[in-house]
Amino acid sequence: MKKVPFVTKEKLEEIVRDVPTPFHIYDEAGIRRNCEAIKKAFAWNQGYKEYFAVKACPNPFLIKIMKEYGCGCDCSSLTELMLSQAVGCVGDDIMFSSNATPAEEFRYARKYNAIINLDDFTHIAFLEKVTGSLPKKLSCRYNPGGMFKVSNDIMDNPGDSKYGMTKEQLFEAYRVLKEKGVEEFGIHAFLASNTVTNEYYPLLAKVLFETVVEIREKTGVEISFINLSGGVGIPYRPDQEPNDILEIGEGVRKVYEEVLVPAGLGKAAIYTEMGRFMTGPYGGLVTTAIHEKHIHKEYIGCDACAVNLMRPAIYGAYHHITVMGKEHAPCDHMYDVTGSLCENCDKFAIDRMLPEIAIGDLLFIHDTGAHGFAMGYNYNGKLRSAEVLLKEDGSYQVIRRAETPRDYFATFDGFDVYDKLFL
Ligand SMILES: *Cc1c(COP(=O)(O)O)cnc(C)c1O
Repeated sequence: MKKVPFVTKEKLEEIVRDVPTPFHIYDEAGIRRNCEAIKKAFAWNQGYKEYFAVKACPNPFLIKIMKEYGCGCDCSSLTELMLSQAVGCVGDDIMFSSNATPAEEFRYARKYNAIINLDDFTHIAFLEKVTGSLPKKLSCRYNPGGMFKVSNDIMDNPGDSKYGMTKEQLFEAYRVLKEKGVEEFGIHAFLASNTVTNEYYPLLAKVLFETVVEIREKTGVEISFINLSGGVGIPYRPDQEPNDILEIGEGVRKVYEEVLVPAGLGKAAIYTEMGRFMTGPYGGLVTTAIHEKHIHKEYIGCDACAVNLMRPAIYGAYHHITVMGKEHAPCDHMYDVTGSLCENCDKFAIDRMLPEIAIGDLLFIHDTGAHGFAMGYNYNGKLRSAEVLLKEDGSYQVIRRAETPRDYFATFDGFDVYDKLFL
């Protein structure tokens, strides 16, 4: 599918006069449309709820928009819990799916009645010890091990993943939890990441639903919510077909009717914790071409770098690039598009065919709405960029200002001398 930016060159030029590049921009209309589609896809399940994976795009302005559609927050750290609270999510609106969890974070999650999803069998005793008791409602994370396949293609390798409990541990966990007075139970599994196929959720659902039936047989525990977690992907490449969330929801419904309903478990609620699918395509990184360099290859240097978007640098991930205003020009120039970090992996694209780029051109790097800004860091003393929301009515709002050197200096006690430097 042809990839087209959700914002025009004229609009970007207007924004750039006010907010210098680089910045991430988000598409409110796109996020809202997607929320509607997800609600529709799972409307067949009474208790359905999406817990947006906060780590994908931790901006309260965006989380607030999703909350309007009934979304809660999936958190895995203290500050993510705080962020959720800041937008008014507490109690059952928070899923706390963490691992190697510090005691302080369990205490905080308990204090605000978040639903806790235990990553390990030993966390039962740990949680009880550090919070003084167990909550009435708890979830356990399952890791079936082995390879996870869709029509013989390996999707991921749970056997090599640090998360969750084995099946034996899972059974034992529910037995122990029941004995200790827990009354409401959930199950969770995350078996493959960024799946661009409509089969992933239905296949995962089958694994989980059959396990839920087995859990009741073996332990007498009835699971009341089943969390399919994240992993629904997006087409980063133009040749990929986007997932159809309606078909995915329908696929899960079929398995539900086949496995859970006949077992008398047709009241179980389905939860999801999508991150990438919620915001990924509705964000873009806007950067200006500030240098060109002709050595053994042709380079375009931009004012963004891997601290603004690290996926290409660490995974070799593909992010489509549109040269604004040159959408119809022939892609007859081969470039490496780079940032300024002192790391050769700091390249947004390698050997990419693009229209001829001129200094000053605005580049729109697609699909940065999830795991984009969120993975930012301060290497080379680089500062985090601004985030801008393109609103439904066409206006824009800065939803996070860019960091300044003062922010960078603020954590050096005794050297927070920013104001005294040569300015
Ligand atoms: C990362 C993560 C998610 C979200 O994953 P996406 O691939 O972004 O949908 C959901 N749940 C947990 C526990 C995660 O770690």
